[in-house]
Amino acid sequence: MTDPPNAALDDVRMRGFRRRAEVQAVLARLQREAAPLAREEVAVTACVGRVLAEELRAPIDVPGFRRAAVDGFAIRGEDSFGASATAPISLSLVGTSLPGRPTRARVGAGEAVRITTGAPLPEGADAVLQAELTRPGRARGGRERVDALGPVAPQRHVGQIGEDVARGAVVLPRGRRLRPADAGVLASLGLARVPVIRRPRLQMLVTGSELVAPGETPGPHQIVDSNSVVIAGLCARDRADMLETLRARDGEDALRPRLDALLTGPADVLLVSGATSVGVEDLMPLLLRERGELLFHGVAMRPSSPTAIGRARDGRLVFLLPGNPVSCLCAYEFFVGPVLRCLGGHPDPWTWPHPRRRLPLGRKLVSKVGRLDFVRVRLAARGGGAGPGLEVIPVATSGASNLSTAVRADGVVLIPPEREGLPEGARVEVLLFDERWAHGATLSERAEDVAARTKEVSP
Ligand code: AMP
Ligand code: MG
Repeated sequence: MTDPPNAALDDVRMRGFRRRAEVQAVLARLQREAAPLAREEVAVTACVGRVLAEELRAPIDVPGFRRAAVDGFAIRGEDSFGASATAPISLSLVGTSLPGRPTRARVGAGEAVRITTGAPLPEGADAVLQAELTRPGRARGGRERVDALGPVAPQRHVGQIGEDVARGAVVLPRGRRLRPADAGVLASLGLARVPVIRRPRLQMLVTGSELVAPGETPGPHQIVDSNSVVIAGLCARDRADMLETLRARDGEDALRPRLDALLTGPADVLLVSGATSVGVEDLMPLLLRERGELLFHGVAMRPSSPTAIGRARDGRLVFLLPGNPVSCLCAYEFFVGPVLRCLGGHPDPWTWPHPRRRLPLGRKLVSKVGRLDFVRVRLAARGGGAGPGLEVIPVATSGASNLSTAVRADGVVLIPPEREGLPEGARVEVLLFDERWAHGATLSERAEDVAARTKEVSP
């Protein structure tokens, strides 16, 4: 094992961590532990958002027949050469071709077949003269006729066999997160089922005698378990399925059987909230070590320093997330999210999924060398509206216990362990919680967006 030594094997309760693992070391270990799950097949009608497990080639041509791309008349293009509104060319109507049925009509010289978009091109024809370039002609000898008012070149307005997708062509690469149009193309190829990477499944054990379930009203001395709500939302973002949330009061007698239930459950990744710090009730790391393996306990970061990570005997990863709501969220973002995305076959799982923006700091940020800081920030008009553009302001916090600080924040800035804070004015990268950071999304920005979208594109 090449991992740096860590404090995993100490009982840290009421003593504190003597050493903490570096975030990078933890991530490096997780990268070695995690690999995409096996494949499964899903209906083509339910594959959007899933990750394609293998490269797909087209088993058929789409379309599989020559078809009209416009409504009009199937003709031999050369028969229309020289036609104009003042010198129309009269063609004899010999039939009709409609979508979804074979046409028996044949187009000979000087002949036309009425055709609608998507209908098969009759034999003999090589072009479709659009309806706008025709008018009804005068019937001759009991035969309907049509006047061509302009020319159409051979092959014009004809969808060729395999024009959309040619048989044998690679349609989608392995690892693709299927978009709605992708799923549509797969359906057009006649595929009923699509091979995708299985979605990771989770179970979570929420610990704490002070907690009541979400939806309940807390009594005196109680608080509502919000961690399971936050984590379920983050799992949904990372396209993992939260199967179940178990709950346990504090104390060995309550925790042990619930941990056993978690460890014998069907999930791919196991999460525990709370009881992983240095209080007397924080028994989880010890219990996990008893029943599996503890890889890390204590990480050099703020918040989330009491995070522990271990494995069940069968190798499945177990994350012990701190109970403090912001710590819990932060530990998920750093360690759980990337693992879930990796298991789910996401092409770039270890990169933050957040939209980013580089902006100057409106105030200095303080931190300590040797510790990675996850700082909640908001975006504000520069200089309180005095200057143009936006700047980054830290959200006043009182530690990791108040979840509302994450609500007031628009995103986070990470201060690397080698930095002792960041000075005012420094340009920093903000990881945004939202594509369109809610509060301040400036009207002028929105207006620019609309303008960009409606701007005419000149050729
Ligand atoms: P712990 O990590 O169990 O020591 O908990 C640290 C702090 O987070 C305590 O104030 C707990 O009440 C709070 N806390 C623990 N679990 C949760 C939870 N599921 N939801 C909200 N707060 C929690
Ligand atoms: Mg607790």
